[in-house]
Amino acid sequence: AVGGSPGPDWKEIMDYARSSGTIADQAFRAKLADWYVAAQGYKLTKFRTQTALSRGETPGPENAIGKIINANHLQDICNSAIEMQDHYGLIMDKDEAPADAVFQESFMWAPGLRIAGGTDEILKNIIAERVLGLPQDVRVDKDKTFAEMN
Ligand SMILES: Cc1cc2nc3c(=O)[nH]c(=O)nc-3n(C[C@H](O)[C@H](O)[C@H](O)COP(=O)(O)OP(=O)(O)OC[C@H]3O[C@@H](n4cnc5c(N)ncnc54)[C@H](O)[C@@H]3O)c2cc1C
Repeated sequence: AVGGSPGPDWKEIMDYARSSGTIADQAFRAKLADWYVAAQGYKLTKFRTQTALSRGETPGPENAIGKIINANHLQDICNSAIEMQDHYGLIMDKDEAPADAVFQESFMWAPGLRIAGGTDEILKNIIAERVLGLPQDVRVDKDKTFAEMN
């Protein structure tokens, strides 16, 4: 849930790019396609979770992927939008900024979201070990108490 719908997504930046003319830029269109594909993949993963819950099953560790996708995309999308705004991208005042500063606000929040509720690295470890079945990370403190580590 923590990575659910954190802020502007591909749709918001697509609308903004249309209004600013950036939509014609090939490099931007390629990024937009990547954001869209990942968002659709995440949406279908969420549907699988909802189906599992409706059948009384417990959703699995694959849900760790949600916050990795959404928090990283939020940072990337907002960064792209701010760059698109050129020097106006510096303005965070809602009354003065392009698109009411929605990209600026979320850009400041995105790094925190990549930490809160489990960092990117921890979530990737969960996916690697519990979803893909890769060997465990080295854990020198496994099965040891904190006192034994000192
Ligand atoms: C905006 C925000 C809101 C928060 N809200 C809450 C809240 O409501 N309730 C709450 O209890 N906590 C909250 N937290 C705390 C949050 O859960 C922790 O900050 C987070 O789990 C990371 O733990 P840590 O800060 O101890 O970092 P550490 O665990 O010390 O990690 C430091 C760095 O080392 C990396 N690292 C650590 N272990 C490994 C490993 N095994 N493999 C690879 N890399 C590793 C991490 O990815 C990170 O980059 C919040 C944090 C933020 C930023």
